[in-house]
Amino acid sequence: MQIHSFEPPRRILMGPGPSNVYPEVLEALARPTIGHLDPEFIRMMDETKTLLKSAFQTHNDVTMVVSGPGSAGMESCFVNLVEPGDRVVVCSNGVFGGRMKENVERCGGKAIVVEDEWGRAVDANKLDDALKAHPDAGVVAFVHAETSTGALSDVQTLVDIAHSHNCLTIVDTVTSLGGSPLSVDDWQIDAAYSGSQKCLSCTPGLSPVTFNDRAMEAIKNRRTPVQSWFLDMTLVTAYWGGGTRAYHHTAPINALYGLHEALRLLVNEGLENAWVRHRANHEMLRKALQEIGIDYYVPEGERIPQLNAVTLPKGADDASVRSSLLGDYNLEIGAGLGPLAGKIWRIGLMGYSCTEDNVAYCVDSLRTVLAESRGAR
Ligand SMILES: *Cc1c(COP(=O)(O)O)cnc(C)c1O
Repeated sequence: MQIHSFEPPRRILMGPGPSNVYPEVLEALARPTIGHLDPEFIRMMDETKTLLKSAFQTHNDVTMVVSGPGSAGMESCFVNLVEPGDRVVVCSNGVFGGRMKENVERCGGKAIVVEDEWGRAVDANKLDDALKAHPDAGVVAFVHAETSTGALSDVQTLVDIAHSHNCLTIVDTVTSLGGSPLSVDDWQIDAAYSGSQKCLSCTPGLSPVTFNDRAMEAIKNRRTPVQSWFLDMTLVTAYWGGGTRAYHHTAPINALYGLHEALRLLVNEGLENAWVRHRANHEMLRKALQEIGIDYYVPEGERIPQLNAVTLPKGADDASVRSSLLGDYNLEIGAGLGPLAGKIWRIGLMGYSCTEDNVAYCVDSLRTVLAESRGAR
């Protein structure tokens, strides 16, 4: 039996991630592998840190890339900042808030969950009430752009409230980085993590993270060692840090070429320009969807431009519409998760996928598929 090389179909990725990868990034990935302690590779790692600081809008020294997907970045924030017995307030308005709670509990912490409706932003008043009721809480965690529901939360307000109760903040910026305004320093976020495959349009599997001095101080003053050896920031920073490099693990060398290129493209475009592009294409999509009778699930003012959660039109069959889009149009859109399964579609406009052409193609394909499915009945 002969097994052939895998040749993936050409898809237009307009789901919750991954987005289409920039051709320049795919090219960068194919360049020759060099040693991870090669001075040229170290130079590239340093440049990647500089680019990442721009993307996160931070001067944090501890800004680097965790060798794992967004979930590993999430885990690195929790394992370093949560110790057994710690009280952590988790604002949960979707799948990823739920995972934050899981992380807290697996670190031996006690999660105080502030539940918000799926499809709504995190309610700042509820957070304030929870912190008043739990003055022993030390950390507040929430998701900036909840990809599972399409809701965008007001980071600055939530961080201010957390700080007024002397809590550190962990913010999930997986879907927001590169797509929505985000400023780690201005908003004084203490720890944030992201992912490579959403608005950065790199391949999946890498997680940018950033920790400010207060977060690093808290890590230094831990009573117990970080339970994960691999994600212990004090060890990882010795690998990614300046000056001497200590071997920690072998960095995913080619994957980092790709991220370096993706970040270079973002910084060359200009962060603000990228935010404007995501917003403009979101507006174009919204208007075009409205014309074919498709409405948003999330109220105006709380929507993530790069992740459009829309209500299924009456009579549309969720699975068959999505499979026609994929099979006949090579177009991927996302299904709803959990309580939103069968109720919403999630149309991503992330990074390289966020173009006017893709908006038009998506709406045209959807219009045709919906008309065909109505005609069939
Ligand atoms: C995609 C995503 C993650 C997880 O990232 P993976 O790379 O799939 O592990 C976490 N949080 C949010 C908000 C996401 O959209």
